[in-house]
Amino acid sequence: MKVNVAEVRYSEGESVHFELMEDFSSFDLGTEALSFHAPVHVQLQVNNTNKAMLVYGNIQTELKATCGRCLETYVYPLSLSFQDEWVFRAQATEDLLESALLLDKDEVDIKERIFEQIVLALPMKFICSAECQGLCPTCGANRNLTPCHCGEDNLNPRFAALGKWQSND
Ligand SMILES: [Zn+2]
Ligand SMILES: [Zn+2]
Repeated sequence: MKVNVAEVRYSEGESVHFELMEDFSSFDLGTEALSFHAPVHVQLQVNNTNKAMLVYGNIQTELKATCGRCLETYVYPLSLSFQDEWVFRAQATEDLLESALLLDKDEVDIKERIFEQIVLALPMKFICSAECQGLCPTCGANRNLTPCHCGEDNLNPRFAALGKWQSND
């Protein structure tokens, strides 16, 4: 995933737009429960601010995720915006050396940098839907698909009335 900033490198105030798409499936998302399901689309606007290149980006892709409640896989659409700073190494101030993407020539591969943004945007938990009922702890049934009757004897009192109503149905 390469971009070339030659067009804006020497002109302060200039900006250039990039649209990129690449397969990221070789990247490891750190768990078998998560993988890339679609190519990664990236839109970038790179502005030369003299001190550095100020970058506004948008990333869109789809992940294949495993629901933490029911263990089914589902497609998780990921869309995020980010800001970044790129700077030629020779012009980098101390601050930028730490935070910016350092360029050594006009062409730069941003794949790792984009991957970092994706990892930062991942939610802590993947749940297929807010209504997911999860697995029954007793019989292991997926309660979204198979209503089971385990545990009806020791229902939480808050739900006891509902349980009675359902079994009389
Ligand atoms: Zn689920
Ligand atoms: Zn059950």
